[in-house]
Amino acid sequence: MSKQKKSMYLNKKRKRIKKGPVILAGLCALLLLVSGVSAWQTWNKGETILPLTSDEEKPQVLDDSDKQKNEVSEYDIDTPASITAIINKQRPFPSDYEPSDLVVPNIAMRDNISGDEQYVRAQAATALEAMTSAAANEGIALLLGSGYRSYALQESLFASYEEISGTEAANQYSARAGQSEHQTGLAVDLVGDDMSCYLEICFEETPTGQWLASHAHEYGFILRFKKGKESITGYQYEPWHFRYVGPELAKAIHEKNVTMEEYFDLVQG
Ligand SMILES: [Zn+2]
Repeated sequence: MSKQKKSMYLNKKRKRIKKGPVILAGLCALLLLVSGVSAWQTWNKGETILPLTSDEEKPQVLDDSDKQKNEVSEYDIDTPASITAIINKQRPFPSDYEPSDLVVPNIAMRDNISGDEQYVRAQAATALEAMTSAAANEGIALLLGSGYRSYALQESLFASYEEISGTEAANQYSARAGQSEHQTGLAVDLVGDDMSCYLEICFEETPTGQWLASHAHEYGFILRFKKGKESITGYQYEPWHFRYVGPELAKAIHEKNVTMEEYFDLVQG
């Protein structure tokens, strides 16, 4: 080897020795990068996928049903003066029950409404006023068709219906005294200011009937006698009859799309 060649070889060798740590460092960096990416992916998976597993969801569902059980038992459905009292053919009210807080709501009423029927309980009156004004903002003019009915008024109403239609038919569309929700002072029959389809099934097709079906629950009212639930409620479908139960319960019943009897597990057989 000539001197020149030897020195070139040494140079190369020196250069090769110098490159060693650079390559090693590069490999280390690559390794770190690869393991870093895979660690990030694992972590990222953990972040996005874990909360969606069924194990994570189950406790939430259980919490909800527990909460609902508590809520159901919190409502008083037995005391006549309770806002959430259930009155039906199996659960009549005493003949002497009369709400102590009846007031005339500040809303429009149908012509010839009787004195008694203009009244509702204070809480229902406030809700009715709010609902009527919200409806008016959307071009719906609500009228109160009938509110409170005393035991005595219901007794005379049923007797006159019985005379017209016979006992069996009257029992389907009217209530006997003590069995009418109107005795609670929390039930209202509503209609539009054109009186179209008042107390008739076709009310469901009117703008007023449709507005009420979608919004009444926001003000604490439920459509009490639902379509297809006649055997449970004991009454024909009444798209005009709304019952005040308070906004919380009304929302729950509306969202579950059930009757009061179903919500409180009172359905027999
Ligand atoms: Zn009614």
